[in-house]
Amino acid sequence: MSVGTWNGAGAVLPEQSRRRQRERMRILPVMIVAVVAFMGANSVAGFLINIADQASLADREAETQQVRQLETALIDAETGVRGYVLAGGVEYLDPYLAGMRAVGDLGPKLLPILDRYASAEPGVGSETRPFSSTIADLRTSWETAIRLSGSNQQNEAAGALKSTHAGELMDRLRALMSGYLAQQAVGTDQIQRRIYVEHVQLLIINLASALIAIAAMIYGFHSSAREARGRELAIAEGDATRRQVEQLFFMADMLQSAANQEDMNAVLRATAKHMLPGFSGAIYIFNNSRDRLDLSTRWGVGEEAICCDHFTPDACWALKRGNPNLNGSEEGALRCTHVAPGLVTLEIPMAARGQLHGLLEIVAEGDEAAARLAQIRPIATAIGDTMSLALSSMALRERLRSQALRDALTGLYNRRFLEETLERTCLDAERRKSPVAAIMIDLDHFKRLNDLHGHAAGDAVLQEVAKAILSCLRGTDVACRYGGEELAVLLPDCSIAMAERKAAQIRGRISELCAGEGLSVTASLGVASIPETSARASELLPSADAALYEAKQKGRDRVVSAPLRSTAQRLSVIEGGPTTVGAS
Ligand code: GH3
Ligand code: MG
Ligand code: MG
Repeated sequence: MSVGTWNGAGAVLPEQSRRRQRERMRILPVMIVAVVAFMGANSVAGFLINIADQASLADREAETQQVRQLETALIDAETGVRGYVLAGGVEYLDPYLAGMRAVGDLGPKLLPILDRYASAEPGVGSETRPFSSTIADLRTSWETAIRLSGSNQQNEAAGALKSTHAGELMDRLRALMSGYLAQQAVGTDQIQRRIYVEHVQLLIINLASALIAIAAMIYGFHSSAREARGRELAIAEGDATRRQVEQLFFMADMLQSAANQEDMNAVLRATAKHMLPGFSGAIYIFNNSRDRLDLSTRWGVGEEAICCDHFTPDACWALKRGNPNLNGSEEGALRCTHVAPGLVTLEIPMAARGQLHGLLEIVAEGDEAAARLAQIRPIATAIGDTMSLALSSMALRERLRSQALRDALTGLYNRRFLEETLERTCLDAERRKSPVAAIMIDLDHFKRLNDLHGHAAGDAVLQEVAKAILSCLRGTDVACRYGGEELAVLLPDCSIAMAERKAAQIRGRISELCAGEGLSVTASLGVASIPETSARASELLPSADAALYEAKQKGRDRVVSAPLRSTAQRLSVIEGGPTTVGAS
């Protein structure tokens, strides 16, 4: 299996061939029409030529027939003359007269033709006289012989025939007619051959044209079918893309409604299982210090085996390159070190608004999925991008929320948040019959520190003090900057005694911290609690503030607690007396 880079040109080549095919398909009907038109024209031309040849053939045959009739008529006439001259019976004149009538009928048409033939064929017979003159001579000879024979001068008649060379004239005429008939036969043969050749040519041309037209039509049908298949595929692809886009929109919509990272993970798992079936996956998110990526969620078959729990950014080529990376299984492939050996994975960095939020890892389960990994890159990238945007939006929301609730200099909560939390915490404590304590902290002579070391040094001290306070607190405690160099801590589930110890610890940490910087900064702290020193939420901070004032009065750098209330008063609070916030 080869899973390296993929070739973007792969999509272009079929497009070029599709365009060429479309051009061919446009030409094809024109070509078929041209071939059919050629076939038609060829057939019409062949038909016309054939009609002309057939007419010429018919003319020739009619002419040949007439020449034969002429020949027969002359022979009949000669036979009649000779019979009459030799035997003297008038019945011999019948064939003569019939022959001469036929000669008279055929003569006007045939004599010019035979004259032309005789002038073109001077070698036929002994003379070069025209055919018509020879007939006229023969006729004169025969009429002379008939006249003499009619006067009982048979010998003179026979002599006249001889002296006028009637026999030679007749032979010449017959030779001319035979020659002409032979010539006609040659011409007829030529025409018949030509008609045959024309038929064969026409057949071959029409056959070739028909074959071309059939081939073009088969190609057209084939191409149309292929194009139809291509169109169906394109439509199916379009449908699939539309469905993917809809799913991505749905995913983005659901992510908008996600309240936290867990919600987002659930949306991602559901989407990825649906859109990338046959693939496992995981997402890793940068930790707060951005030096490690922690597994946020994973899905798919064998998910426990295929994803590690965390890794450093330098173990991942996709993060180092800032581009998707395929971890192929082929020999010598460049692979991320956080991916288990043999696993084929697609790594997609999740970046949005110029910041890298994490990594989407798609794992191929089996060879078939591995072969498809490059194909699903676009949709996996789209899922990664959608998730990145959601992560970015959530980070932005978190930042805005934090900005609204926290003090920018120290990172502690602001006074508004403390006041909101105070009410909620006191109600919760009352319900659970649990104490709540507050510590007010004011840095001593902070003005002097500012004056001596500058405002920036004062800011830095405030930041260090905030860290020192946080280092003493539990996760449920709330530290805030109450104003200026005054800080407050709310301690749920904390009695006055525990709060005093906590205050003492904070005081100690602050003095240690400042001593380390060469600056002498101390803090005065006032402690109060419900129900030991205060009856209700609205009294807690004023009580602690009053205790703080007392600490200042007593010389600063110390912890002072608000005065304890009587046992009866405290019991009434614990048992659910008049402790409602704001109640007088
Ligand atoms: P005391 O011991 O009586 O509390 O004396 P103090 O000087 O600390 O009290 P005072 O109220 O006279 O002065 C408070 C000073 O804290 C004045 C102000 O310049 C300083 N301060 C308040 N907020 C900030 C801050 O954000 N940064 C810095 N650097 N100084 C601040
Ligand atoms: Mg002060
Ligand atoms: Mg002050």
